Amino acid sequence: MPELKDVKGIGPKSLALLNKINIFTVEDLVTHYPFRYDVLKRDELSKVEDGEKIIIDGKVESVPILMRFKASLNKMNFRLVTASGVVGVSIFNRAFLKSKLLVGTDVIVIGKLDKSKNIITASDIKLDVLSNKVKIEPVYHCTSGLTNKNMSTYINMALLMYGKEIPDYIPSYLQEKYQFLNKKTSLNIIHNPSTMEKLKEVTIRLKYEELFQFMFKINYLRKLNKKEKNGLIRTIDRDKLQAFIKKIPFTLTNDQNMAIEEIIHDLESPSRMNRLLQGDVGSGKTVVAFIGMICNCLSGYQSALMAPTEILANQHYLNLKELLKDSDIEVALLTGSTSKKEKNEIYKKLMDGAIQIIVGTHALIQDDVIYHNLGLVITDEQHRFGVHQRANLQNKGVKPDVLYMSATPIPRTYALTIFGDMDVSTIKERPKGRQKIDTYVKKTSEITEVLEMMYEELKKKHQIYVIAPLIEESENSDLTTVNELKDQMRLAFRDKYRIDIVHGKMASGAKDIIMEQFKNNEVQILISTTVVEVGVDVPNATTMVIFDADRFGLSTLHQLRGRVGRGTSKSQCILISDSDAERLKIMEREDDGFVISEEDFKLRGHGDLFGTKQSGDMTFKIASIKNDYKILLQAKKDSKEYLDNKDTDNDLLKKSLIDSITHVN
Ligand code: ADP
Ligand code: MG
Repeated sequence: MPELKDVKGIGPKSLALLNKINIFTVEDLVTHYPFRYDVLKRDELSKVEDGEKIIIDGKVESVPILMRFKASLNKMNFRLVTASGVVGVSIFNRAFLKSKLLVGTDVIVIGKLDKSKNIITASDIKLDVLSNKVKIEPVYHCTSGLTNKNMSTYINMALLMYGKEIPDYIPSYLQEKYQFLNKKTSLNIIHNPSTMEKLKEVTIRLKYEELFQFMFKINYLRKLNKKEKNGLIRTIDRDKLQAFIKKIPFTLTNDQNMAIEEIIHDLESPSRMNRLLQGDVGSGKTVVAFIGMICNCLSGYQSALMAPTEILANQHYLNLKELLKDSDIEVALLTGSTSKKEKNEIYKKLMDGAIQIIVGTHALIQDDVIYHNLGLVITDEQHRFGVHQRANLQNKGVKPDVLYMSATPIPRTYALTIFGDMDVSTIKERPKGRQKIDTYVKKTSEITEVLEMMYEELKKKHQIYVIAPLIEESENSDLTTVNELKDQMRLAFRDKYRIDIVHGKMASGAKDIIMEQFKNNEVQILISTTVVEVGVDVPNATTMVIFDADRFGLSTLHQLRGRVGRGTSKSQCILISDSDAERLKIMEREDDGFVISEEDFKLRGHGDLFGTKQSGDMTFKIASIKNDYKILLQAKKDSKEYLDNKDTDNDLLKKSLIDSITHVN
């Protein structure tokens, strides 16, 4: 394959700029797709309303007059003759164009028309002509020093020189079946579309190709995982395990027991575990994970539990320590704020195997961490840890089992795709004694009522979460901020109750202190941005108040609501919003996270699933799981058939698809 520097026009300087935006190969370059298209169609002067956008072409009629106001501000005026009349053009800060705008030059002007002055204030001038047809201009993500025009030139040069060599990942029988254009033609069209119809056609083709590749990979990994007998084979002493389970202060639900059995089965089987444990918020996934780790320890291996925040890591650590207090299993906590000295101590103990369970944040997979015999890795909430991170794990000769926990219930069809390479355990049942959380949608004008409801709870010595979407005031937004709310709550409750704030921009140490105080009921009202969304467990908190609730997806609201109702007292959730009541009413009716995420999916196309779920393994150049779901399903089916069809095992394409899967163990 030719290299990027072989493309005519790309010198060392532009090469560096391209690298900066992650373009390293010719293939990267020609698959650097436009993120949008500007459609240029000639307007007529008389048909555009005053103050409206206009696109028009013509010839420069007068020598441009340049005025400089400051070093950074200049303005140029000239007259333009167009097919529908003469018009004045003004443009700011394009002094460099003066030498090009000779009288008689063809230009396209894009800007706003002032009818009374007969002047266009231009935002852009292109040295080009508009034909009578529509002109569709690709717009690329660029970087400073690299213009849209440069990008387009390089891409087209690369296509001209090497278009035939760009690999095509769709098997030919599928190309025929769907009557797809070939790769080179498709690339040519996506970068230089002549009509919207053609553009649409090749877009579908390129999306399909990308999703086909992706699903092939997922199907392949799944198959490999099942086939390979490279896992750890363990036998787990059930009696010893039972002794631990007895110490848990509650009875496990059926679903919890079932998930535990599935995990034990994986641990004992010769295939590696690659399992997703999903369960509604509050369904009790943590204890299942703990038991998984204990099983793993009983069979002689180390376990690691990775949480997305320090608050959460700390919470897990304390709970685990409690559960293990009479045992000889050593557990440690490792996060970004662990002191250097302590860290070194922990590293040493991990390497020689003295620590059997480690809880922490991303610090667990730093280069300095070397495990003696890590047998099980569990990641809690939010991050699916990708192939790259798995590669980062330094472990002596052992391939650990992997369990992911997710509290965002994913609609079944969806889960099968995204987590297609995994087995799934689902906890649906809620722990006994939990009451339904009453949910109310209120308008901002009903705030007094809301404050009264809060006061009733405070009098019962319960605690309250208050959520706002913003931290600080911003000019172009009238959303509620946490600071505003603090003042408002102070005014309402005076000094009777302690009110404090946590938000994502605080230093994690400061955040932890306040969370700790809330846990200990030294703070009664905790005002926060959505940082509490993840995992925090304070059973005495019974009320969740969410301002500007319409700003959040239903799944996020459900997660937030799940922070209350964790004890035995009746809990409530109040959603404050002046709009979007219809959607929010779903929250009043529904308390099943799976149903809610289906609803969210229907309403918003994707809900909140992908804001947080996206991992490095799952970024697409042109396709989107949320918008191209139908194509995805087709690609999934096709790629599986292709993979399973033994007759194609000698295909070069199949071999190269498999080669491209960097399956790091
Ligand atoms: P999540 O699934 O959202 O991570 P957690 O594991 O944090 O939920 O559990 C929520 C709360 O429920 C915790 O306080 C936990 O101790 C408690 N819990 C878990 N399982 C049970 C059960 N079977 N019976 C009673 N309480 C339980
Ligand atoms: Mg949890």
